[in-house]
Amino acid sequence: MPDLQYTGTQINYYFVCKRKLWLFTKDIRFENENEYVQLGRLIDENSYKRNKKQIEIGKIKIDFIDNKGVIHEVKKSNKIEKAHIYQVKYYILTLKKMGVENVTGEIDYPKLKKRKTIVWDSDDEKEFESIFSGIKEILSQSGPPAVVKKNICSKCAYYEFCFV
Ligand code: SF4
Repeated sequence: MPDLQYTGTQINYYFVCKRKLWLFTKDIRFENENEYVQLGRLIDENSYKRNKKQIEIGKIKIDFIDNKGVIHEVKKSNKIEKAHIYQVKYYILTLKKMGVENVTGEIDYPKLKKRKTIVWDSDDEKEFESIFSGIKEILSQSGPPAVVKKNICSKCAYYEFCFV
């Protein structure tokens, strides 16, 4: 600990789909062609515009930091997911390891008109050890993990690659 060479997207994909994580990391990308990815980008670029100021620190890209020092991530999703929560916790971990303590996060869901507060818990360090070792194991494989059909597949940028 810590393995801070990952991006927030990789942490997110670890929870969403192991195959997607592998393909994305190996630079097999179809992101521009998918309408749902485009929609996500549009919402990212147009929501909460008053506060908008994306910040890159190491491998992470924080959507914006508000005037109370809270880090924000904007999600187009219509449900709160573990992938989003751990993506923001990863941002908090990165900042902690750089010496910035007591950071909290917020995930903004414009479609839901909701916000979820994210705080660092005492178990999170252990949780990330397991996440990092899981990611390492997946990425060490010579080919992508097998297709496992999920509800999100039809909206995934890799749908045609996996199913057609
Ligand atoms: S289409 Fe489904 S199985 Fe294929 S990468 Fe996307 S989420 Fe994973």
